[in-house]
Amino acid sequence: MTITPLMPVYPRCGVRPVRGEGCHLISEDGSRYLDFASGIAVNALGHGHPKLVKAIADQAATLMHVSNLYGSPQGEHFAQRLVDNTFADTVFFTNSGAEAVECAIKTARRYHFANGNPERHDLITFSMAFHGRTIGTISATNQAKMRDGFEPLLPGFRYAEFNDLEGALALIDEHTAGFLVEPIQGEGGIRAAPPEFLQGLRKACDEHGLLLVLDEVQAGYGRTGKLFAHELYGITPDIMAVAKGIGGGFPLGACLATEEAAKGMVIGTHGSTYGGNPLAMAAGEAVLDVLLEEGFLDNVTRMGERLRSSLEQMIPNHDHLFDSVRGHGLMLGLKLKSDSRRFVEFARDNHGLLLVSAGENVVRILPPLVIDESHIAECLEKLSEAARVYVPASDD
Ligand SMILES: *Cc1c(COP(=O)(O)O)cnc(C)c1O
Repeated sequence: MTITPLMPVYPRCGVRPVRGEGCHLISEDGSRYLDFASGIAVNALGHGHPKLVKAIADQAATLMHVSNLYGSPQGEHFAQRLVDNTFADTVFFTNSGAEAVECAIKTARRYHFANGNPERHDLITFSMAFHGRTIGTISATNQAKMRDGFEPLLPGFRYAEFNDLEGALALIDEHTAGFLVEPIQGEGGIRAAPPEFLQGLRKACDEHGLLLVLDEVQAGYGRTGKLFAHELYGITPDIMAVAKGIGGGFPLGACLATEEAAKGMVIGTHGSTYGGNPLAMAAGEAVLDVLLEEGFLDNVTRMGERLRSSLEQMIPNHDHLFDSVRGHGLMLGLKLKSDSRRFVEFARDNHGLLLVSAGENVVRILPPLVIDESHIAECLEKLSEAARVYVPASDD
């Protein structure tokens, strides 16, 4: 037998973390890494944050899980806080980002069904989108590498070019339910929607009775310096998928919606065994407590600006390699002039710096939201040292 006990779907690297300390990870062999990947924008509070650790430990000892057949004081409380701090009137809790997007897709379809328009079932999605790995969410992207071999996929998606408003509007017909879009594409290469694009989609939704569904699984939850990225654009969605940072490392996601958009989601239409259990709610509450502390999000913005300007200053010293910086807050991308995956490996293996590659040869820089200036300095030191000695492959 040659297959590994862990199904071999990931290209796992040699770093084998066994412990986390704040913004650092310690590997099985004792090596120490600066973690500017954060489990891909998940560990918003870094590793071992005392408030999160205590909340989970206390709740685990009190009540870990009960069925959604019973009343949920923990879920009601956390949902109320999300409602109080966002556009939404109601929340469905999930265990992952893909499930949050699935719930968003179902909510959008049911809205039109409840309105007597069941034929309005198509969501218009965008090139280079990433919405998760379920059959539904791979059907929502046109990226071949995620879809190949899994056909037949779920019908009901049309694909437009990201940032091409005219192209997206041209796809609207009698079957359109709405748009599903990441305000800032993560996997796609930290591609931020221009304001006119998102605002144009919002306007089209208002004019045609469509739903704007945002996937803020990566961009949301304080990552950009706002609680949610759409706040940077002065628009609100009708439905929004959230996950990654929301549990700070505990598996948790959420689908948020306005009362109007959620009108079809009545008793019996959706469910999840684990979704919103007391343990997950305790983790979510602890993360939100920290994010809503006075000055926390402002500090994300400030650290983001500092990191960004330091990266920009570094570019001329390494202009054979670095092209430009993009993104918002602590969701930053460094565009390379050669293969970003290879450089991420080099910085990791030779300089103890953890980053994530993305589309368009972008290196994603996604530190914990709790970084201070010392972590920025450490990142820049490691990054500039890596850039100084790195030799791009001749075929990159
Ligand atoms: C990570 C991600 C998802 C999928 O989340 P999972 O928890 O892996 O299912 C969906 N959308 C976006 C934008 C993401 O970044």
